[in-house]
Amino acid sequence: MPKLNENYLNLKESYLFAEIAHRVDAFTKANPDKKVIRLGIGDVTLPLGEKVITALHEGVDCMASSETFKGYGPEKGYEMVRNSVVEYYERNGVSIDADEVFISDGAKSDTGNITELFDKDNVILVPDPVYPVYVDTNIMDGKNVTYINANAENNFLPMPDPNQHVDVIYMCSPNNPTGAAYNHEQLKVWVDYALANDAVILYDSAYECFITDPTLPRSIFAIEGAKECAIEFCSLSKTAGFTGTRCGYTVVPHDLKFTASTGAEMSLNAMWTRRQTTKFNGVSYIVQAGAAAVFTEEGMEECKENIRYYQENAKIIADCLAKKGIRYFGGVNSPYIWFECPNNMESWTFFDYLLNNAYVVGTPGAGFGNNGKNYFRLTGFGNRENTIEAMKRFDELF
Ligand SMILES: *Cc1c(COP(=O)(O)O)cnc(C)c1O
Repeated sequence: MPKLNENYLNLKESYLFAEIAHRVDAFTKANPDKKVIRLGIGDVTLPLGEKVITALHEGVDCMASSETFKGYGPEKGYEMVRNSVVEYYERNGVSIDADEVFISDGAKSDTGNITELFDKDNVILVPDPVYPVYVDTNIMDGKNVTYINANAENNFLPMPDPNQHVDVIYMCSPNNPTGAAYNHEQLKVWVDYALANDAVILYDSAYECFITDPTLPRSIFAIEGAKECAIEFCSLSKTAGFTGTRCGYTVVPHDLKFTASTGAEMSLNAMWTRRQTTKFNGVSYIVQAGAAAVFTEEGMEECKENIRYYQENAKIIADCLAKKGIRYFGGVNSPYIWFECPNNMESWTFFDYLLNNAYVVGTPGAGFGNNGKNYFRLTGFGNRENTIEAMKRFDELF
């Protein structure tokens, strides 16, 4: 009998979305005449832009003749795409090297797989509430995580404790689920802390494209010193609607080097190159052709149009909460609106209340951690008409 990876026994049952589906299903069966509106989704809904679609078609056509056929691609991704990522950073005032960019099939796999580069004996810091991937991948690996509280007192933007030493720090800004985004000064404190502690920041910037405030950094590498202490994960999922198409990119700076117990120097860029070339054979040429189109001027304009649509939805939700005097976070610089459940309700109680009385579905904060138990997440990813209708019902309810 094989001895199995019993770390899997330590995973908490992930019942959040199954439980939501179950409760919504029961409600619709009992109330077939009620129109249920779903504002809990963390997935985009608008179709890909025309430029991307054309590029994807051209990618397919390349595969149809021996002159243009593509087999295995370059290990870190096609140069054309990596250069486009470099130029994208440049437009945001950040300079990186194409050799530091790794094209991936999305940020979830990379944020999950990166744990392989770190030993069990690290102090690994994750915020609570959190995107569950960071926690579960460490548990699968037999690693323990330490939580840092994100709450209303710190505006869901926890800051490091100078008296606590940690080795690996997970950050996500703008944040899923809270919508909170760090400013330059706050990120500088984190970078300085990481440098002082010889720690690594694993920075998830999957929602950078939602930042509208020009003073907010869109990359951790906008902060001085970050190249010596941070890896950044990004994705075309939310930027370009690629959740079903699959493409992302991870930036691992050359300056990210540490000394091994043997005294040898270890480069995280070299380690990640070795890891990816051993276990990953790249993103399909067709998808990379589509990804390259995202970064063109016209492609980016199409993406921005969709992002503006989601941002406007988020604003409609946020405006309604503001009008009701309900305390919320996010809603700007993020598709997520994270708010205190009215009347101090528990998040699952509020879920049922909202479903039964307004026929609106959201996500209970308890699903993201203990600090979410009195909070609720709505998103701007729905359609306009439904978002307006849902908030009209919400308005009438409270
Ligand atoms: C949506 C999301 C991503 C993107 O994941 P992909 O695998 O690229 O689709 C990454 N991080 C967070 C926190 C997300 O919510």
